[in-house]
Amino acid sequence: MLIKPDGVERRLIGKVIERVEDAGFRIVAMHMEHLTRKKAEELYAPHRGKDFFEGLVEFMISGPVVGLILEKENAIEDLRRLVGKTDPARADVGTIRHDFGMSIRKNVVHASDSPENASREIKIFFEEKWTE
Ligand code: GDP
Repeated sequence: MLIKPDGVERRLIGKVIERVEDAGFRIVAMHMEHLTRKKAEELYAPHRGKDFFEGLVEFMISGPVVGLILEKENAIEDLRRLVGKTDPARADVGTIRHDFGMSIRKNVVHASDSPENASREIKIFFEEKWTE
């Protein structure tokens, strides 16, 4: 999971982590960083070529982000449910994006959508020791 620049700027780190921990996730690693353009482009490589890609990358490098490696049974699906739909206006009440998100771009968090992407994203964001 990544807490995006809007989440950090709006001082939502604590609230997001509280929800994640309350939902039964264990934080395995956590790291704050101001992404380079190259890293942001790599993280969102599957979206390269889409009309929102450039704007998304610009936003992701507009301030620091917090990355978390989380552990739980059924973690990917359960986290996606906790986070809610991409567009906060369409996300269910009680989800992180519904409750805190401002727009489809400023939607507070990123959650990996598959084990393969989680592994790919962890390799980009975290030190070698977490990537085996
Ligand atoms: P997610 O897995 O729910 O984060 O959604 P996606 O993987 O489809 O998109 C990645 C991120 O790109 C989203 O979290 C949005 O911030 C952004 N995004 C996706 N679709 C759009 C769009 O149509 N317009 C804009 N401006 N941003 C988008």
